[in-house]
Amino acid sequence: MIIAANLKMNLKRKDLQHYKETLQTQLSLLNSVDAVIFPNMACLLDSSYFQDIPLTQGAQNAYPAKNGAYTGEIGSEILEELGIRTILIGHSERRELGDNQEFCLAKFTYYQELGFRIFYCIGEPLHIRKKGLSAVMDFLQTQISGIDLHYPSLVIAYEPIWAIGATQPASIEEISATHLNLKNLFRNINPTRDIPLLYGGSVKADNAREISQINGVDGMLIGSGALNPQNFLHIIKETLE
Ligand code: PEP
Repeated sequence: MIIAANLKMNLKRKDLQHYKETLQTQLSLLNSVDAVIFPNMACLLDSSYFQDIPLTQGAQNAYPAKNGAYTGEIGSEILEELGIRTILIGHSERRELGDNQEFCLAKFTYYQELGFRIFYCIGEPLHIRKKGLSAVMDFLQTQISGIDLHYPSLVIAYEPIWAIGATQPASIEEISATHLNLKNLFRNINPTRDIPLLYGGSVKADNAREISQINGVDGMLIGSGALNPQNFLHIIKETLE
């Protein structure tokens, strides 16, 4: 099971240190999953900082270039210097800030070529969900258009936009049906690999177990529910029971 924490624009360096120290107290728990953290971009640390705990640090975003005249962006050169080889691409909050499909694809292609592990996010807005599953699938297909599903270091996160930062996640039936359809779609394109498919959207300790047990859910991408390291650990524990 992949358990990933997207800390967004939250937590300072001091908090991240506390985060690490808290996780350090539960190494066996952490060891039992594939744990990933995407810290606040200004808090990215040299990956050696995490080398004594089984936790991968990833970048929430990056520009598709090594370096250059891209004010306010970070490129692959600095990520590689920090030992970061994992990246989140296509999060709905980035898409809302202007990352259209073409730009998401440019990022995907660039970081694929560098061999990064890519967590690629897809998810529909509420008005599409209201039209039913077939409209949802049509929408999600536009978001994976051009993405190389044969890439061996690809993880996909299905995050319905209307369930992100909400009071509750998508229903078990909605997650189950969407994951089943996505898995079939992926399998038709690449029958040789079961592409890991995460669910994201209001996952918390009290719903993590039920969600993690849904057929076709290979892990979870967690935002607010993982801001507190104790909650992150609690979620991991729930997925193991
Ligand atoms: C996210 O933004 O990736 C996310 C899943 O957020 P939250 O868990 O807060 O809904």
